[in-house]
Amino acid sequence: MTPAVGVTTKTTCPYCGVGCGVLATLLADGTVDIEGDPDHPANFGRLCSKGSALGETLALEERLLYPEIGNKQVGWGEALDLVAAKFSQAIRDFGPDSVAFYASGQMLTEDYYAANKLMKGFIGTANIDTNSRLCMASSVAGHKRAFGSDTVPGNYEDLELADLIVLVGSNLAWCHPVLYQRIAAAKERRPEMKIVLIDPRRTMSADIADLHLPIKPDGDVALFLGLLGHLAGVGKIDRRYVQDHVSGLDETIAAAPRVSELPLLTGLSSEALAQYFDLFANTEKAVTVFSQGVNQSASGTDKVNAIINCHLATSRIGRPGMGPFSVTGQPNAMGGREVGGLSNMLAAHMDIENDRHRDIVQKFWRAPTIATMPGLKAVDMFKAVADGRIKALWIMATNPVDSLPDADAVREAIKACPFVVVSDVSARTDTIVHATVKLPAAAWGEKDGTVTNSERRISRQRGFLEIPGDARPDWWHVAEVAKRLGHGAAFDWHRPSEIFAEHAALSGVENNGERDFDISAHSTISVAGYDALRPFQWPLPAGYETTPSERFFANGNFYTADRKARAVAVHIPIVAAVTPDYAFILNTGRIRDQWHTMTRTGQSPRLSQHLAEPFCEIHPADAARLGIAHASLVEVENQYGKAILRALITLRQQVGSVFAPMHWSGEYASAARVDT
Ligand code: SF4
Repeated sequence: MTPAVGVTTKTTCPYCGVGCGVLATLLADGTVDIEGDPDHPANFGRLCSKGSALGETLALEERLLYPEIGNKQVGWGEALDLVAAKFSQAIRDFGPDSVAFYASGQMLTEDYYAANKLMKGFIGTANIDTNSRLCMASSVAGHKRAFGSDTVPGNYEDLELADLIVLVGSNLAWCHPVLYQRIAAAKERRPEMKIVLIDPRRTMSADIADLHLPIKPDGDVALFLGLLGHLAGVGKIDRRYVQDHVSGLDETIAAAPRVSELPLLTGLSSEALAQYFDLFANTEKAVTVFSQGVNQSASGTDKVNAIINCHLATSRIGRPGMGPFSVTGQPNAMGGREVGGLSNMLAAHMDIENDRHRDIVQKFWRAPTIATMPGLKAVDMFKAVADGRIKALWIMATNPVDSLPDADAVREAIKACPFVVVSDVSARTDTIVHATVKLPAAAWGEKDGTVTNSERRISRQRGFLEIPGDARPDWWHVAEVAKRLGHGAAFDWHRPSEIFAEHAALSGVENNGERDFDISAHSTISVAGYDALRPFQWPLPAGYETTPSERFFANGNFYTADRKARAVAVHIPIVAAVTPDYAFILNTGRIRDQWHTMTRTGQSPRLSQHLAEPFCEIHPADAARLGIAHASLVEVENQYGKAILRALITLRQQVGSVFAPMHWSGEYASAARVDT
């Protein structure tokens, strides 16, 4: 598109799952003015430091602007022909499961839809997974176990209506700052609102908390099972709701540990536990917010269900100011879930292992095949790359050499893979340097599409800058390869609005309220309608102009066969013990002013001023014991690798644990990659 000086474009921030509306105005000097969109229901004009600095991250110096094969610039035709030929060859010689696609929560829904359609319906493998697997797959699995569907029941307004907000493994102050601002403002208006922070670290979110519970790492399942036992003991179970809408609760209550066991299991004092349990038991309007601190754990799914159990048992779900609330890390983790971008999902919240769902999707796509079983999940996918099962790999909009667990092994796997394609905006990431074929992608501010935020709200990202060089949108990369693989008719899109309409239409096929995700009201959306699309929450079935239900499950009607939710009798995990060689537990996470592997935020000198170096938080007692001085360099090592970090001695950290941020890649530091 041609940039228009002085014209303001409504778009959406490309960073966290809050999904803030942004007003972008191209100025005469070529810079871009960024402001929060006062009309967007996620942020009402607010932006955090990262969102405000978006205009400083649009330079082209680091961009990949032309396709490359073997580091040599080529035309699109040559690059796409090679991708199609190599994928065809692998499929012909070794079968469809010999190829894989690694996607990203940074992709727009239309891009995701195209990639998922190609892999599952036309190549015939479910080997498509995403970095969102790391971010929130535990929530997906927990939702599906409890609700029969991957449904986030509530919305952001609930955070302002609640009388009690429990933040679990969620440093909103830094990771979802605008939600934190909304809660802080609500608490200022109603100081009686209580906030509890459950986190091993005393993060910045503690600044508005009435109570901080410094739980021991992975003590959450025991804590929430204990809470459920307490609720049963003090007569706070809503027996009527449970009888009508929940199964399995009594067995789950029976699995709760004794109160006397909880201090050891959680690391919390009896007094602190009693204070929290009393608050929850006696505050009807309670929201439990959870994010990566819950999800990114070997027991993440059980943590999610342990939280949901307490809300189901008290019917605090789907009503204003109440509910379990998964907050996603990435801007379009939810959109990826909606199109089935995980290897164990189909499209439009349908199930890959459900014969009828497969039939619906295959017929709708007019696809020659359909994947019949789940494919490789992210970590397993790269293990399969390492052991040679994957012969051709396509990575889009993500940097697994820095972000996946055991990232050194991932790097070696990619280096050894016979054929690797990377679609990206950046010419310099730790992953793209190992690609055989590099495909230049359109960036934020250039591309058009939709994203879904944590409250099920779908918003447009709109381009306001000309796409530079030979870069093209990600969906176009996929469609052009699909055409070369012989599937032209199914991928004959000319603009993202056509993909969105197709996605919307699929969501309504044979739905009739059976599935939660339905946006078929937009199945015939026009180009003009798509251009003007205002943020909306799903569901939005055909015939509706606004969502018929802003919240789910107040009256049950879950998406299981008997329409009842499931309480899940989760098990208290055995937490990995420290050893003499590895004497600390390492927690990783985000800092306020950087995003993921810094490919975008690293371009803003202003954002780098907040915390300029990779660091390691350590408790003063541990630092004294090891003779570590503040601001000295420390080597942090485990069986997967080592990093050299600046010591930050702080009481925010527990004895026996250390914390390091996940952002610094090989591009920005010599030895500071710590994975997610
Ligand atoms: Fe962007 Fe998240 Fe900040 Fe909003 S809170 S401006 S979506 S990074």
